Amino acid sequence: MEPADAFVRTFRSESPEGTEALAEAVGAAAFAGLLLTLNGDLGAGKTTFARGLGRGLGVTEPVTSPTYTLMDSYTSGRLPFHHFDAWMEGREKAFLADGADEFLGGDGVALVEWAERIDGWLPGDRLEVQIRHMSPEERVLELTWRSSVRLDGHGEGQGAGRRLLESLEVPPDVVEIPGAGQKA
Ligand code: ADP
Ligand code: MG
Repeated sequence: MEPADAFVRTFRSESPEGTEALAEAVGAAAFAGLLLTLNGDLGAGKTTFARGLGRGLGVTEPVTSPTYTLMDSYTSGRLPFHHFDAWMEGREKAFLADGADEFLGGDGVALVEWAERIDGWLPGDRLEVQIRHMSPEERVLELTWRSSVRLDGHGEGQGAGRRLLESLEVPPDVVEIPGAGQKA
């Protein structure tokens, strides 16, 4: 089996503002090369999360859904922010094969909506965000830092991703669900 590290924290958001605020905290702590993979049904809040992440990075342009553009890049923030949407998985795979994969990691922060559809095309080190739709305004967000290398291995990114999640502060309108820790 591949060595692996996975650390999880779970949150309950009671409003779109709560989800944005949680994502904003992630954006404020984000580092160059960070990849976020988002999964959850239509309307779960993936784009809402992306909007908050952009705000945390200091992006001033409006962050909208890139469903038809495949990727939007925002450069007004602290780091470049590359926002992908793999709803149309065939097109997204072709797009990544065509060279867009250089935007995963690298100098910026990349976020992929519907990531499970193109999972094999994405690097293994990532912050996974699973959003569950509980009621019209309630969402459960499970954030997992996953790395192909254990923390006791090497590499800047490993430790940085895990530290980001460990030290993430819970914003108002969001409640942490107990059970944070190492994941199998
Ligand atoms: P997706 O990109 O997953 O399809 P969007 O972010 O575009 O989802 O849409 C989420 C919708 O759900 C928005 O209309 C948003 O206002 C609404 N919503 C209601 N409560 C929440 C919440 N707690 N978190 C995120 N979105 C919420
Ligand atoms: Mg969306």
